Amino acid sequence: MSKPIIIAGAGLSGTLLAVRLAQRGFEVELYESRPDMRSADISAGRSINLALSDRGLRALEMVGVNEQVLKDLIPMKGRMIHHQTGHTHFQSYSGREGEHINSVSRGGLNIALLDQAETFPNLKLHFNSPCVHVDLEAGIAHFHDQTTNRHIHQEGDVIIGADGAGSAVRSSMLSQGPRLRFDYRQDWLSHGYKELSFPPSPDGGWLVEKNALHIWPRGGFMMIALPNPDGSFTVTLFLPFDGETGFEAMHDGPSVRAYFEKWFPDTLALMPDLETEYFQNPTSSLGTIKCFPWTAYGKIALIGDAAHAVVPFYGQGMNCSFEDCLIFDQCLDEYGNDWDKLLPAFQEMRKPNADAIADLAVENFYEMRDHVANPVFMRKRQLETRLEATFPDYFSKYSLVTFREDVPYARAKELGNAQDKVLMELCAVDRPLEELDLAAILVKVKEQTADLRIGI
Ligand SMILES: Cc1cc2nc3c(=O)[nH]c(=O)nc-3n(C[C@H](O)[C@H](O)[C@H](O)COP(=O)(O)OP(=O)(O)OC[C@H]3O[C@@H](n4cnc5c(N)ncnc54)[C@H](O)[C@@H]3O)c2cc1C
Repeated sequence: MSKPIIIAGAGLSGTLLAVRLAQRGFEVELYESRPDMRSADISAGRSINLALSDRGLRALEMVGVNEQVLKDLIPMKGRMIHHQTGHTHFQSYSGREGEHINSVSRGGLNIALLDQAETFPNLKLHFNSPCVHVDLEAGIAHFHDQTTNRHIHQEGDVIIGADGAGSAVRSSMLSQGPRLRFDYRQDWLSHGYKELSFPPSPDGGWLVEKNALHIWPRGGFMMIALPNPDGSFTVTLFLPFDGETGFEAMHDGPSVRAYFEKWFPDTLALMPDLETEYFQNPTSSLGTIKCFPWTAYGKIALIGDAAHAVVPFYGQGMNCSFEDCLIFDQCLDEYGNDWDKLLPAFQEMRKPNADAIADLAVENFYEMRDHVANPVFMRKRQLETRLEATFPDYFSKYSLVTFREDVPYARAKELGNAQDKVLMELCAVDRPLEELDLAAILVKVKEQTADLRIGI
């Protein structure tokens, strides 16, 4: 009897891959540790909404995602920067028409994928069943069925760990010691995050600009807000854990209010439940996980956050995880179910790109926090937008990462950083942008990055 493909984790990447494999006719068993989020009143986990961009959209197109998900996306055309004085200014994400990112509900997206998964007779969903261990060489996954309180084990043709940043499949790989020589590294950020919210306006509208990702950069820390379809915003406060600007500075209602009066005064009127939400909602940590190999014994593979958890500052963790599924699918075109060939090929294609987006996300943390309100950086951002508006074949680093799904992350990083270097030098001289010769600048940028542009 043929063995199924077993996937641990029915989050975003596990469910998307399960649907794709079922569409291709494989027998799939999808195990999730939590209850079914469609019937249980559970939060979808971290971050209520997410920025979905071209790489993720392409993967969703692959499986023909539900129309409703696409209808509920809220385009965010740029960053709305909120200065401490209350003054705001808008930085477009691109100089080209139609290039934007989208706010999407994590729960809505996961539910849409689960609904789709359920339509396949060859895909079985098991909730309340955490993976506890994988016998890697035998290809047997072990689960604890919390509903019946019984241990289940199942042999798979291949076992895929899509069980997120705390992956149990990855832990089984790590526990192999010198046999697998599994490298694992986790770098915590000194900052954590807490979610808050702006409610809708009394008439059900949005209290601040709907089509923007709002940022309150304060040099060393920041707050952001993404719109939801019901008129509310999900607000995320990114602060150091320690110190006078950190979470530890807020220990009671008055200290929370005083902190916001000092650093985010324009938001107080938007957050009637600030103190309640602040103490109700958890403070969570952020980190990067890198590991290698992502595959073992021609039977095991990691995808999504299980293979590469990244900090959320490029808005690419889910997009990258969805792109993993797309590349896995391309590998199936090439190798069929010859897992001994497919799994290493998948790993070889994805690992350098996952490393690149992990590094870019940490770099963007410093950029969003410290530089978006810095005059040289602001000039550079305006110059990039003008270059993009004037020369449609010019792509800034942000655009390469976010809108060029045909350019792998590693190449986007290399070219983007080289372009940034040239532009930052030009913008360090305080001259009005109108005086700059855009055509000459483009020639200079292209000359200095020629070897990195081949094929882009
Ligand atoms: C604050 C924050 C903001 C973010 N914002 C963005 C953004 O704007 N854009 C973006 O692209 N990305 C963003 N991300 C990243 C994004 O959330 C992740 O990259 C994405 O969720 C990864 O999907 P995944 O399916 O690999 O993992 P997950 O979404 O974590 O899913 C893993 C699933 O596995 C289940 N599970 C866990 N352990 C087990 C087990 N032992 N057995 C079985 N099941 C298990 C979990 O319950 C879960 O359902 C953000 C992350 C954070 C923390």
